[in-house]
Order: sequence, then structure tokens, then C-alpha cells
Amino acid sequence: MIARTTRAACAAVLGLAAAAFALAPGAARAQAYPARPITVVVPFAAGGPTDTVARLVAESMTKTLGQQVIVENVGGAGGTRGAGQVAKAAPDGYTLLLHHIGQATAPSLYRKLPYKVTDFETAGLITAVPMTLIAKPGYEPKTIADVIAYVKANKDKVTYGNAGVGSASHLCGMLFMSAVGTQLTTVPYQGTGPAMNDLVGGQIDLMCDQTTNTTGQIKGGKVKAYAVTTKDRVKSLADLPTMEEGGLKGFEVAVWHGLYAPKGTSPEIVAKLNAALGVALEDPKVVARFADLGTEPEPKDRRSPEFHKTYLTAEVAKWKPVIEAAGVYAD
Ligand code: ASP
Repeated sequence: MIARTTRAACAAVLGLAAAAFALAPGAARAQAYPARPITVVVPFAAGGPTDTVARLVAESMTKTLGQQVIVENVGGAGGTRGAGQVAKAAPDGYTLLLHHIGQATAPSLYRKLPYKVTDFETAGLITAVPMTLIAKPGYEPKTIADVIAYVKANKDKVTYGNAGVGSASHLCGMLFMSAVGTQLTTVPYQGTGPAMNDLVGGQIDLMCDQTTNTTGQIKGGKVKAYAVTTKDRVKSLADLPTMEEGGLKGFEVAVWHGLYAPKGTSPEIVAKLNAALGVALEDPKVVARFADLGTEPEPKDRRSPEFHKTYLTAEVAKWKPVIEAAGVYAD
């Protein structure tokens, strides 16, 4: 009798537990998450600046989450190929996207973009990286003022490398050409990692790229550097003037990066990812490497998924009129 009662009580408790589990599948899933490796798609080639940021962050997140966070490079179409792939991935937290400002500019540059920015959950901002205007070694112009004069006089023979329409290097080049009032021949790559190889090798003349790719080459004397694209000078490249100091009034662009999950990923999983990202942004190794590369983690008050979402919306609205005025379209 006692045994039967106990068994019945046990069954009732188990039944309640099962019901609770059924009522909160998201919470249960998040508790078990991550149970296997996570893939972070970088929509540009390996060895470039976005890849560098992703690998640093992924290494730290691997420690926090207890599962391997693997970076996969899916370059092409200015970042829209990789982003499109993640937009269609299962919303289970195992396929993520680490993208930059291109997430906000692509909707204005591509009239037939096969995804929307709302196809993603925002998991947090990472860092806003300054850009630098650089040239192949031995390039004739010495200063930013010289470059401006040189490209105006030689526009037919100057080549500008970028990572395709929608990339940050494309955006910076577009702003530069429109500020200078000259169109240059652009040479697209799958990312500015391979573009940098060609710049160092002298196959292309100019490029504008994040300091997370250019700092080492500038300091090593492998490329010529003219200016930074931020409002203020960059501490680790203090000799470089700003574009504004070089005469291009109001020229300002910083390449902000964010982490995304496909739309429909549970809020619990997004919160776990955001927390692990927050740990990475406090990780002394990440902070020190960012500083070496001319950047810093987003401050704490800008790190929530909600802030990221609002910021993304504002950036889409900010760049739309600029791109429309430039009349540049990818398709
Ligand atoms: N810096 C590149 C861009 O122009 C992308 C990359 O290769 O990371 O967007």
C-alpha cells in the first residue's frame, strides 16, 4: 500500500515535471544550449579585418560557452552572400553571423537583396573600428592632400580595391570618390584580406580598410598610409591625420560590428550569446589586441541586444539617403 502510494506520488511528480518541461521548451533548450559546436559565419575572406575580430571574440566565447565557436568564411557579394546564408539557417543558436556596418548599407545598395535586416535577432554590438586610407608601397602622393590632387589628375589610371558592393571598403571608397568628385576604377575581392595582398604586391593602388587589417602593414612599412576616417586621430596610429584634417570636411566612418542569430532564435539563447560576448569584450587578451589594432570594445551601455537592434535601424536610416545621393547600386 505504502509502496503503491509512493509510486503514484512519484508518477504525479514526474507528470508535473514533464508538464513544466512542455510549458517551457525555450527555457529547457536554452539550459542545454550549447550542446555542440557553434558556427559563426564571417561574410568575408579569411585573414581580413572582420575575420580578425571574429576569431578573437570566438576564442573567448569558446571558453565561456564550453563549446567550440568556429569561424566560417563565406565571402562574396560585399558580405550579402554570407548574411543571406545565415538568414535562412535554423534558428537554433548553432549558426550565427558576425557582420559589420554592411548589414545596414546593403538594403540601400541592393534593390533585390534576398533577405531583410529583420531576418535576424541582434545579439550585441562588438566594436567600432576606424578605417585608414592606404596605398601600395612607393605610391607617389605623400600626404592626404597629395592623394586628393593625384586622383583628380589621374582618375583613369588609379585603381581602388574593395570587398565588393556592400562592404565597408566599398562604402569608404564611395564616400571618398564623392568627396573628391572623381570616379575611380574599383577592383572587388571576397574580402580585404586578399585585397591587401594585392595592394602590398602593387597590383592595385588604393584601399580604405579597417585598422584591424591595416595597422600591422602600416607599422611594418608594407603600405603607405594617408589618413584615418574617424573624427579624432587613432591613438595607435597617432601620426596619421583625420580625413577632415586632410581637407575632406565631415568625412567620418567607423566600422561597427555586431553578432546576429537567425530570426526566431529564442530570447534565452540570444541572452546566453550576448552574455558570452560581454565576457569576451572584457577579456584582457581581446581588449589588448583590439588596442594594438586601433580599436576598443563597445562600452557596456551599448552592448544589449535591444541597443544593437535600435542602432541597426538607425544606421539603415542614416546611410539610405547618402547611398541614394551617390546613386550607387549593386544590381
Ligand atoms: N574590410 C572588409 C570590408 O571592406 C571586409 C573584410 O574583409 O573583413 O568590408
